[in-house]
Amino acid sequence: MSATVLIAGAGTSGLALALSLLRNGLSVRIVEKQLHFHPGERGAGLQSRTLELYKFLGILPDILERSISGITLRNIQYLSAPDNGKPPRIVRAPLESKNTPARPLIETRFLGQNRHEQLLRELILAEYGVRVELGTELQSFEQHPDHVVARLVKIVDSNPVEETVSVNWLVGADGARSVVRKQLGLSFLGETPDTEAVTGDIHVIGETLNQDQGDGLLVWIRPDDTPAGFMRPCLVPGKNLFQFIILGHKDLDMVKISSSREEMIKGFYEITGRRDIEFGELVWMGLWKPNIRMVDSFGKGRVFVVGDAAHVHSPTGGQGMNSGIQDSFNLAWKLALVEKGSAPESILKSYSDERTPVIASMLNMTTELFRKELAPKPGQRKDFVRGPELLQLGINYRGSLLVLDEKYTDKDEIVDPYRSGDDGTVRAGDRAPDAPSLTHLSPNESANTLSLFDIFTTVQHTVLIFPGTAGEGFVTEVVETLGEYPSNLLKSILVLPRSSSSSTSTSSFAQSALTLIDTEGYGYVNYMVAADIPTVFIVRPDGYIGALVTSGRLGVRKYFSGIFL
Ligand SMILES: Cc1cc2nc3c(=O)[nH]c(=O)nc-3n(C[C@H](O)[C@H](O)[C@H](O)COP(=O)(O)OP(=O)(O)OC[C@H]3O[C@@H](n4cnc5c(N)ncnc54)[C@H](O)[C@@H]3O)c2cc1C
Repeated sequence: MSATVLIAGAGTSGLALALSLLRNGLSVRIVEKQLHFHPGERGAGLQSRTLELYKFLGILPDILERSISGITLRNIQYLSAPDNGKPPRIVRAPLESKNTPARPLIETRFLGQNRHEQLLRELILAEYGVRVELGTELQSFEQHPDHVVARLVKIVDSNPVEETVSVNWLVGADGARSVVRKQLGLSFLGETPDTEAVTGDIHVIGETLNQDQGDGLLVWIRPDDTPAGFMRPCLVPGKNLFQFIILGHKDLDMVKISSSREEMIKGFYEITGRRDIEFGELVWMGLWKPNIRMVDSFGKGRVFVVGDAAHVHSPTGGQGMNSGIQDSFNLAWKLALVEKGSAPESILKSYSDERTPVIASMLNMTTELFRKELAPKPGQRKDFVRGPELLQLGINYRGSLLVLDEKYTDKDEIVDPYRSGDDGTVRAGDRAPDAPSLTHLSPNESANTLSLFDIFTTVQHTVLIFPGTAGEGFVTEVVETLGEYPSNLLKSILVLPRSSSSSTSTSSFAQSALTLIDTEGYGYVNYMVAADIPTVFIVRPDGYIGALVTSGRLGVRKYFSGIFL
């Protein structure tokens, strides 16, 4: 079976990458060493930014249909451990901010990783006929100047069968113990805290704990005020299923607890005192040791790493799976352009350059939460309080060599890779905000209003031209310049101020591209465009602003000279 890209590992990072590459017209092979798909919930929290990226990928309706709102899980009950009959202290985790015209998908959603992966597998198979190859392990690879040779071992009728494949690119989405990372010789710096936990999913029988009662997260606290364990409902319709974490303690034998369902239940009763809870089937369980590490580079030559293969950390803050998906979005469009011969290989370096500071920042945040919530010293525990940055809407690539900003030119700006969009500016490198209520200029077009998020796609740059009160000259110049680039890789939108009418003279452009009126003014407000300064925003296929251009032709050419060949 031939393919351009071989992806090793069919977790959420590998599957999101596969779908993004397939959308971009590349052929993909995705191999998974396990004989069966992982049945566990693990990372169930989908952050706002992931939902936005899935909208651009065209799969948000499927995700919304299968996931549930994260709202009920904001009820956190702190219980004494072992239970001394004291009533729980109930804390309602602070509300995330509400949806706004710029941020329309604020509410996080919950979808167990097993069901999330199943959905991605189904889409890839239904739309592209690509099936995850189970029982197929990447064992090693060799890099050549224009291809990679990978050695796979496949289990056929219980026997290992070797296969050597030649591909143009290899991506290791092969998790924390990544073979690809090790063989590339990437350093994986960080620490391994002296803690461990047993985690898994288990059914609860009877009414002592009912996932539909809105119990939210249960946290058992020891007399010395350190946490003993957690439980949260998985909220799978028709199943009373809970995810549990039993935290290590000097009095507990964690290897024994993780050895069988019976030992796990004994351990649970010991730490919580809740012998009234009757358990049913154990779906899965594993002994987990936190590692806080990341690579020094996200790839070399024709081989890359994404997701847990590139960074591992505590689950506190729910960032891991979401970060892996964003690695994949950052890499996919660049790899697609290079493979199609439309961009130089040098843009691939920006994948590592852009993701490194974001992931370093994420590791710091999740480690801080880990020390406060999961492994505090006695007396230093803090309740779960989550900042809005964990929604990942502030992640940005400001200062990246790939982006161009003609408005904010301070080279000494201190960039916080996790926080942008709240400082009163919208800059190159930032997440491109949404803007709803855009109407078609041409009366022949649909009467439906559009939002920019309906327009952004993972396969093209979107060029937003805000002419403000400037004359037709600016628009004509920009449109002419855009004609110098492959039309299938760009889409151009002219956003006219709300005062414009169908008689507005933008005739030449209006005929060749989408012309929209900013009826409610959200476009100009959310992009902070002054009516008297004509501005162009070039939005990348991963939803980040590649360029903020005020000079017209010059700026457009400058940005695309770093992207297209
Ligand atoms: C209890 C728990 C709760 C969590 N909660 C959250 C949360 O709420 N939000 C969040 O964002 N994250 C959360 N995480 C983290 C999240 O689960 C991981 O970050 C995520 O699984 C990473 O996905 P991945 O695809 O990069 O790697 P993985 O899910 O590890 O997938 C890698 C795949 O590669 C396969 N593989 C390995 N080696 C090879 C090889 N040589 N050849 C072929 N295949 C191979 C593996 O079998 C595996 O299927 C949680 C984790 C745990 C344990």
